Amino acid sequence: MSTSLESAVAEVCASVGNDPSRLVDVAREIQARFGCVPAEAIDGIHLRLGVSRPTVRSLVSFYSFLSEEPKGRVVIRLCDDPVDRLFGYERVQRAFSQELGIPIGGTTADGAFSLERTACIGMSDHAPAALVNETPVTDLSTDKAREIVAELRVHMSPERLVKKLGDGNNGHPLVRSMVRNHIRQAGPIVLTEHHHGEATRKAAAMSPNEVIRAVKAARLRGRGGAGFPTGIKWEMARAAPGARKFLVCNADEGEPGTFKDRVLLTEFPDRVFAGMTIAGYAIGAREGILYLRAEYGYLRRFLEDVLAQRRAEGLLGRSIAARHSFDFDIRIQMGAGAYVCGEETALLSSCEGLRGDPRNRPPFPAQKGFLGFPTIVNNVETLACVARILDAGPATFSEYGTKQSAGSKLLSISGDVGMAGVYEVPFGVTLREVLALADSRETQAVQIGGPSGRMIGPEGFDRTICYDDLATGGAMVAFGPDRNPIEIARMYMEFFEDESCGYCTPCRVGNGILRRGLDKVLAGRGEPSDLVQLEEVARTMKATSRCGLGQTSFNPVLTTLASFRPLFDSLVKEDPKKFRRSFDLEASTREAARIRTGGAR
Ligand code: SF4
Repeated sequence: MSTSLESAVAEVCASVGNDPSRLVDVAREIQARFGCVPAEAIDGIHLRLGVSRPTVRSLVSFYSFLSEEPKGRVVIRLCDDPVDRLFGYERVQRAFSQELGIPIGGTTADGAFSLERTACIGMSDHAPAALVNETPVTDLSTDKAREIVAELRVHMSPERLVKKLGDGNNGHPLVRSMVRNHIRQAGPIVLTEHHHGEATRKAAAMSPNEVIRAVKAARLRGRGGAGFPTGIKWEMARAAPGARKFLVCNADEGEPGTFKDRVLLTEFPDRVFAGMTIAGYAIGAREGILYLRAEYGYLRRFLEDVLAQRRAEGLLGRSIAARHSFDFDIRIQMGAGAYVCGEETALLSSCEGLRGDPRNRPPFPAQKGFLGFPTIVNNVETLACVARILDAGPATFSEYGTKQSAGSKLLSISGDVGMAGVYEVPFGVTLREVLALADSRETQAVQIGGPSGRMIGPEGFDRTICYDDLATGGAMVAFGPDRNPIEIARMYMEFFEDESCGYCTPCRVGNGILRRGLDKVLAGRGEPSDLVQLEEVARTMKATSRCGLGQTSFNPVLTTLASFRPLFDSLVKEDPKKFRRSFDLEASTREAARIRTGGAR
């Protein structure tokens, strides 16, 4: 190992106290300094943290922001989620490839640039978009791609690509990003002014059980989509025995089409941290972790600064709000690029310095979570709601929305709409009303709830957004009349093929079978029996997959099939002679000839 690499590994490991549960941080730092985590570094990490070499190697191969092979000094990660593809990903990718002289996945010979594609970076309101190292570059065109490369060749400083600052805190000296918030409709619960420090001080004047009762009185349910009552979840963790307890904020919104947590973290981080502090107090935790997705790394310094301010004001740290028994602090844990880490048990694995592999439940995290201690994982929006409940009172919160779905919901709306952005709407609003707000015209389909959500056709536009009807974590993508819903469903299945962690067969294999099934239909080679097979595979995945990803990833196929059955039926047909239409005789004989003659493919 070179001296500089050896001393860097020693220094980085020492900076986290040689704690193996900080392996993701160590690997990220080595990647940042050397452009990769080479085999020699893996040896060094193994010796210093006491983690086996295969474990380190497996972790490096798992996360998309880590690599054993050297990457360029500047890595351009082009977002290829469905919205970006609809708005010009292919064109922009070709422009970057031509300018750099490398394909996707390539690195220039001088080691200056790497070009990669990546899943959603939380910028669907700015599509097509990319990350240049940590700097988001938005609203790309082919001209802009060429200008970016030309400029980088001069200074190699991605931050200097930002010429015009975005609105609000995007212009903060510690952020300095071109991103715009696109807050299109603010409501009275989340996207509203609040009294700084008030919610935390009010909680400190109450007992933990009184705080839990207030959250239950407000009827707050988790905003991630599943809608489990937050107060009940907290009670479970409070009652669970444990020498330590943890409160984790899931800021890993990775559903393609979701970006509302980006806006919350940019404009209302103080409220999110207040919610974390109050939740920690309620469950008896002294330690909090904000799990921040790697794609939002550009917000990290700003968020650290907000935490420092709260410490200075006595709203974080020891004896919060002058209450002797109220100690709580928060650290930021960076992710390293893995969609599955949005699943709470996978996220906890990642926090512990492991691959983001989901875990079996039970035990639930509230009983046995981070490092085996009782842990609550709440998402960013849920915690912002907690602060509002304490600040304004449970009644103010629950008078908004419906009986079963109290409060408001933040929606990230993108796709074929005139005004992509973030909307705060009361639960109970119809899809049609939301589409009108976003200036959507001639919409033929809406994907709601991210890729594992549902594809809704026009006959479903009077359905309502709430836990009892269209439950959603917040993503909503509208598709106009020129889009092919089957092609869109295929893109989502491709996404799941990439993002499945591969642990269990139904998910690892099933997503590919479903994608290939849609390929057949789109190519006009499908038969009615193929549609039956799609449904059967989905049923098997639901019944036998290990975690929520595989238990729901088939939804784009099933819901598109349900909403657009006539389109599927028009593309599949039985061969009159009962031959299999998907059987390609020419290709098969070509293959047989190749084998017989021993020729190359
Ligand atoms: Fe991994 Fe998919 Fe199985 Fe979940 S369902 S554990 S993501 S392979």
